[in-house]
Parts: sequence; C-alpha cells; structure tokens
Amino acid sequence: MKLICIGRNYVAHIEELKNERPTDPVIFLKPDTAILLKKQPFFIPDFSNDVHHEVEVLVRINRVGKYIDKKFAHKYYDEIGLGIDFTARDLQSKLKEKGLPWEKAKSFDGAAVIGKWISKDSLPDVQNLNFRLEKNDEIVQDANTSLMLWQIDEIIEYVSKYFTLKIGDVIFTGTPAGVSKVSAGDKLKGYLENKEMFSINVK
Ligand code: ZN
Repeated sequence: MKLICIGRNYVAHIEELKNERPTDPVIFLKPDTAILLKKQPFFIPDFSNDVHHEVEVLVRINRVGKYIDKKFAHKYYDEIGLGIDFTARDLQSKLKEKGLPWEKAKSFDGAAVIGKWISKDSLPDVQNLNFRLEKNDEIVQDANTSLMLWQIDEIIEYVSKYFTLKIGDVIFTGTPAGVSKVSAGDKLKGYLENKEMFSINVK
C-alpha cells in the first residue's frame, strides 16, 4: 500500500510557510515503512532539529481505480481518519531551496501517524468536519475540512490520473495552519468531530 499526501491544501497554512498558492495540487508519497506502529512513541530523528506536526484528515481507499471522475470518487472510500504528516522542516527547506524531492524530510520511518478509522456514513458531510490537534493539552491546530482548496473527491480524481489507487491506500489531505516544532516529552492528541483518533508520545 502507499500513502499519498497532498501539500498546500489550506490557504492559512500556505501563508504561514510563505509558500506560493499552487495551481494544481502538490503531491508526494510516503512508503509503508513511514507508518508509525500502533502504540509506539514517535522518535525525533537525529538528522533534524525542527520536526513539525501536520495534522491531516485521512481517506482510506476501498476499491481499485484509475482515472476516477470526481462524480464517482465517493464510491472509492468509506472510512475517514486522522493522522500526522511529520515533517523535518529544516531538511525540507534545504531540499526546496535546491529544487530537490522532499522524501528525506517527509518519508522517514515513523513520519506517518494513522489513527482510528470512522465509517463515512456515521459522519456529517465529509467536507464539513471539525478536526484539531492538541499538544500537551493545548490546541495547536484547529480547522474544518470545508477550508480545503481541493476537496476529497477532487483529490481522488486528480491523484488517480497519475497513480492507480489500490485497496488500503491512504490519502493525507493536507494540513491546516498551526504547524509547529515537536520536542521530546510532548504528547500529541488528535480529534475528529470531538472523537479522540490518536494519542502519541514524542521521544
Ligand atoms: Zn502535510
């Protein structure tokens, strides 16, 4: 399975990193080895001094598909989740400056947190979901999926032009504003519609 991640999908986050607003979605992949194993802490890698949390709504693909029209995209997922796209921001900035790929900053072991899954049917409109991240019991990221530049069904249409989607693939739909550095000893908790989706200790 693969993790397909969308960058720059919330205006306020694009502004906080002083990035350009893209005309097409920014896409990158993480390998399955990036998934943080259940109940394990997140260890800050020794090659970074500035790892950021990026809380993101996740979509789990349940059918094989290619060239999926956005009208039919809703048939390709029935579970929504919440996770973290951990990013070594210092390394990413260097790679961006040189126009190099971001994998070393984004796809290292443990860089993808995947929390619980919730049936789409038990949720309100997927484009109107509240979600937030708490760091040491303080809210650091707080947003709603209505703020996405590209909605979930548009992301599926766009991504499936390039990559065949397979059962179990996970889409990270981009982070809202409020990203910040994590430090050893931090506790990160994610909530979707007020339900706790994950709890991670940083070491
Ligand atoms: Zn991200």
